[in-house]
Amino acid sequence: MKVTDAEIVISAVSQKQYPSEGLPEIALAGRSNVGKSSFINKLINRKNLARTSSKPGKTQTLNFYKINNMFYFVDVPGYGYAKVSKKEREKWGTMMEEYFQTRDTLRTVLLITDIRHEPTRDDIQMYEFLKHYELPVMVVATKLDKVPKSKRAKHIKRTKDTLQMSKDDVILPFSSETAEGKDEAWGYIKQYI
Ligand code: GDP
Repeated sequence: MKVTDAEIVISAVSQKQYPSEGLPEIALAGRSNVGKSSFINKLINRKNLARTSSKPGKTQTLNFYKINNMFYFVDVPGYGYAKVSKKEREKWGTMMEEYFQTRDTLRTVLLITDIRHEPTRDDIQMYEFLKHYELPVMVVATKLDKVPKSKRAKHIKRTKDTLQMSKDDVILPFSSETAEGKDEAWGYIKQYI
């Protein structure tokens, strides 16, 4: 898809702030520092619309990016950062539940993982959480450029197995460095918008 227009519309902390025009939404979830902002920026050809390396301690928000006046990418705050306080973690949980439980315009979720590493307990929990809401999920295994070609198939299988991915869900090897997987990512997204 050729992105001609991408803008952040709102950083929301609660439901009443979500956009109300009813456009379809594609959410993105993943561990802090996994490469989620880089993924968004690569897809929309912007260097820095989605903030990269967002540090914890900053306000955790759901960031709604309107793309071509057609749909939203909803960047949900990263998880799994050890130094987050219990109170912050609880706030994060409430915000996630509120969004995933109630959002009728949410079509699918892209769960970003690091292809180099076995998915963590947090990744597994996130995947299970999304399946609990019966959402279709595409796992985007990013940082593909960091894994030698000969080892890629093994790493992909490990990700699938550890997450116990449903047969209906898709896994996509991806790199924000080389743009491998970019066309396939758009192909998947187009089915849902
Ligand atoms: P976020 O916290 O999930 O939004 O993660 P960022 O997008 O800020 O990425 C975290 C770090 O990983 C940054 O230093 C990025 O440059 C790097 N990074 C992200 N994606 C890739 C990738 O596909 N390949 C490589 N080599 N580095 C990446």
